[in-house]
Amino acid sequence: MIQRDYYEVLGLNRNANESEIKKSYRQRALKYHPDKNPDDKEAEEKFKEAAEAYEVLRDPKKREIYDQYGHEGLKGRGFSGFQGSEDIFSSFGDIFGDFFGGGGGRQATGADLRLDLQISFKDAAFGTTKEVEVNKHVECDTCHGSGAKAGTSPKTCSTCRGTGQVVRSQGFFSLSSPCPACHGAGQIIKDPCKSCRGEGRTAKSKTISVTIPAGVDDGSRLRLRGEGEAGPRGEPPGDLYVFLHLESHEFFHREDHNIFCRLNITFSQAALGAEIEVPMLDGKHQTINIPAGTQSGENYRIRGAGIPQLRGHGRGDQIIQFAVETPRNVSKRQRELLEELAEIDGKPIKEKLKGFFQRLVS
Ligand SMILES: [Zn+2]
Ligand SMILES: [Zn+2]
Repeated sequence: MIQRDYYEVLGLNRNANESEIKKSYRQRALKYHPDKNPDDKEAEEKFKEAAEAYEVLRDPKKREIYDQYGHEGLKGRGFSGFQGSEDIFSSFGDIFGDFFGGGGGRQATGADLRLDLQISFKDAAFGTTKEVEVNKHVECDTCHGSGAKAGTSPKTCSTCRGTGQVVRSQGFFSLSSPCPACHGAGQIIKDPCKSCRGEGRTAKSKTISVTIPAGVDDGSRLRLRGEGEAGPRGEPPGDLYVFLHLESHEFFHREDHNIFCRLNITFSQAALGAEIEVPMLDGKHQTINIPAGTQSGENYRIRGAGIPQLRGHGRGDQIIQFAVETPRNVSKRQRELLEELAEIDGKPIKEKLKGFFQRLVS
């Protein structure tokens, strides 16, 4: 794939200054942000491309290398674009931090929410849907988020022309601060809605259905777009982040996509081999053949009986770890047989040993 020129990506000429670079990136990032273009691959690519271009051009050192040697020059010096999406969003955060935050300008979206959810080992493996109760602000039913009384609508603030910011020039500098007329909202409500007192949202308890995909693990995080706090005055809502906590299983434990269980077998099963029933994750049983001469600590693997890959194909394995049980409280008959076995083995046991010493001293 041929990489596009970074200046071309941001629609800039080669002499563009810092604020032009920033402004151009901001426009593109807003336009192509994945939140605004869900499931749009092309927008996602454009978003990444713009973020990468910005990352290089905003840094005087990288920009100088790029100007002289191009893309290859950056690679040669260890700057090879982005490794993962994290980086892209960090530069996004940088620029929008001062864009939206800047001295209490208008808030763009509602706050994100966090919810911790306990799920069973089995639900994590096979997926499930959970209904959860969340206390949060939701859009006001009466005014549908506008904050204005029924039959009226908010008016664009004439002082700031809806931007929520006023700009004052002082010599070479221009300072922006929240608009004093609308307090940064960009709109003026003459007759506020009575239900929400002009906020556009009310506190409520809402039942949300959370779909948990098969294969999640302890600590997995799900993001439910738009299920966070409603934004003020009809602005978009935040997201709800669900953090999953797995309950332990009485029989299985998990390492990535493999599940492990311990199975006790008797000495004779271990020695002679046996057909035994093994519990499976789905609650069924499978018969396995353990070979003669199985040792304590040896494993048996059932392929594809572990945890499914998250949003992928295939499953991990089930691994059975054998523990050879030494018999306790043996019956008279069992004792006879074990003593006989010991004799054949030619290895002395406790009582024989006693007799042996007695013969020595007499
Ligand atoms: Zn209302
Ligand atoms: Zn204003």
